[in-house]
Amino acid sequence: MLYYKVGDQVTLKKGHPCGENHWEILRTGVDIKLKCMGCERQIWLTRIEFEKRVRKILVEDKWISIVHHKPEDSAE
Ligand SMILES: [Zn+2]
Repeated sequence: MLYYKVGDQVTLKKGHPCGENHWEILRTGVDIKLKCMGCERQIWLTRIEFEKRVRKILVEDKWISIVHHKPEDSAE
């Protein structure tokens, strides 16, 4: 399981109604607080909902797919 921390940027399965799909994590714990980078609206998701919906995370300026998250040099 990935560890998410405040300040991480992620995309979700569905974007925000404003058209943006780019979120910053503002709070972690049992519930996750996210800020839409498009309109700055803040939402709360339960951690379970968040883990179901999260798709990509920004790591060192690269978008890493959560589903296929593994080191690049592990390709066979
Ligand atoms: Zn938005």
